[in-house]
Amino acid sequence: MYPRVILKETMIKKSQQKRRTSPCNYKQRFFVLDTQDLKYSERRPGKKPILKGCIELSAIKCVEIVHSDAPIPCSNKYPFQVFHDNLYLYIFAPDNDCRQRWVRALKEETKYNDLVVNYHPNFWMDGRWRCCHQTEKLAKGCQEYDPISYVSKKPLPKIREEEGTPHYQLQKLVVALQDFTPFGDHDLPLQKDQEYVVIDSSHSDWWKLQDDMGNTGFVPSTYIAEISGTDFHRFKWYSKEIDRGQSEELLMKEGKEGAFIVRDSRLAGVYTVSVFTKAPGSNGEKNPRVKHYKIRETDTEENKFYLAEKYLFKTIPELIHYHQHNAAGLITRLRHPVSKHRTGSPDLGKHPTDQWEVDREELSLGQEIGSGQFGLVLEGNWRDKKVAIKMVREGAMSEDEFTEEARVMTRLSHSKLVQLYGVCTQHSPMCLVFEFMENGCLSDYLQARRGHLSRDTMLGMCLDISDGMAYLERSNFIHRDLAARNCLVSNCNEVKVSDFGMTRFVLDDQYTSSHGSKFPVKWSAPEVIRYSKFSSKSDVWSFGVLMWEVYSEGRMPYEHRTNAEVVDSLNAGLRLLKPRLAPDDIQQLMEWCWKEKPEDRPSFALLLHELASLSDL
Ligand code: ADP
Repeated sequence: MYPRVILKETMIKKSQQKRRTSPCNYKQRFFVLDTQDLKYSERRPGKKPILKGCIELSAIKCVEIVHSDAPIPCSNKYPFQVFHDNLYLYIFAPDNDCRQRWVRALKEETKYNDLVVNYHPNFWMDGRWRCCHQTEKLAKGCQEYDPISYVSKKPLPKIREEEGTPHYQLQKLVVALQDFTPFGDHDLPLQKDQEYVVIDSSHSDWWKLQDDMGNTGFVPSTYIAEISGTDFHRFKWYSKEIDRGQSEELLMKEGKEGAFIVRDSRLAGVYTVSVFTKAPGSNGEKNPRVKHYKIRETDTEENKFYLAEKYLFKTIPELIHYHQHNAAGLITRLRHPVSKHRTGSPDLGKHPTDQWEVDREELSLGQEIGSGQFGLVLEGNWRDKKVAIKMVREGAMSEDEFTEEARVMTRLSHSKLVQLYGVCTQHSPMCLVFEFMENGCLSDYLQARRGHLSRDTMLGMCLDISDGMAYLERSNFIHRDLAARNCLVSNCNEVKVSDFGMTRFVLDDQYTSSHGSKFPVKWSAPEVIRYSKFSSKSDVWSFGVLMWEVYSEGRMPYEHRTNAEVVDSLNAGLRLLKPRLAPDDIQQLMEWCWKEKPEDRPSFALLLHELASLSDL
């Protein structure tokens, strides 16, 4: 297939300095991004363009904006980086929109690559990284890299004009301090350093914002900084009305290296960072003490804030966030925010749209459709929707713990997950209300259609499941019991992942202990059987077994063997055999999922990508 062009633009690139001695220069190039490569060429009037470089997208390990206060010696002032083949390519865009466009598109095209875990947010310059001061160019990055970009296809919203007043004059702008992955449909993803418009800041922990594509949703208020404004109350690190002496007392009592607060200085409108350290002083003696740094402002037209060295930031929260990760001239980095007023993390306070308690009056119960670990499952209706209702048998579930977690679970929302709508806790028995799946559980579905399922259908099932699981992986949520019996099939034969995380609330030892007779040994990774070590990578192992179930048309894995025999054969390095209907590519993916060491197994993001590429053929 011919590669499809995604973006074209004239921008400036810095020489990649492949050798230590190669000169540093800045050249204007015509960049073309297509579905295969990032190419750049020299264009001179009246001459044929000369291709100067071509980077295969598959070789790219990181694409990110560069944040720097370093002077930029060319006309384009918006740098971003492309790390590939152990080389750093710095590209300078003429404006922020152009840079965002390129970074988003490149991230989108490379998100399933073998990416870096950490990256350097600043330039490599004069033999050191400006962000973390390391002097080895290939040293591990100092900031976590997030490969997921959120590209919305929605058109830009029209600016509403009211009685001749442009709407934007009323807008309060914020900048994202860090990325945020939504928990559910009501949330808005954040990209670090992007600007957003505030729609509603009346709730202290969650603010409603709008992005530049017109999407709106909630974000944790501590993930954003107001571009003009000094209301820091929502941040744990800010303590109002505390003086130098009190701050010293508080931090000495805390006694942790890097414990810090931000407080008002004696001068109005000025802030001070007080930080505890045990680092040796100038006399070499280790004396625990508190150091105070005034937050300074540049006297340029556009006020910028800085602390010890001139790392400049538009807002104080951005400055604090930076120094939470980099000492950059301070005695220590700001490790632990200490607060006079608040304890715990405010990040996950109650969400304004939390509505996981289902009103029993709104629920109508129908006939029984199954029974499981927790009790009977009924069909029913809730708010004009057909739903499945799990009636929790007394003693089957640790109900209090589940109710605590239900909030998180109702907010996990993806087209390939069976949605938990809510829980009815006010009456006994407790009921869990789920999206209804007409075609029941996947293992029954496979068995009922033996001999009639095409390979495309089987691949489609694996794709659906890996899609749902990639979302759980991104949300740092572990399933713990992935198997065909825990997937359900919709009326249009779409497969969705169900029962995620539910084993944690089962009260039956036979099911939860790895020695128990009901423990799903045949789906469990070795580290789960041995030490109950669950992770997304142990889910990947189970996914391998689930693919085997799909291609075996719902047969029982290790059919004639007991759990103990399965453990012995796994310990001897043996694995399930290739099902007759599985193509070689699928078999290879299964074996990859069954690598002994969790770190050798692929992520779900990668599995999804691999499966998608098989479905293109
Ligand atoms: P438990 O979580 O209590 O072990 P299961 O999830 O195994 O219960 O559900 C038992 C059966 O109920 C399933 O095999 C399936 O046939 C039916 N069922 C469960 N959830 C749904 C649903 N959301 N839609 C339709 N049927 C369902």
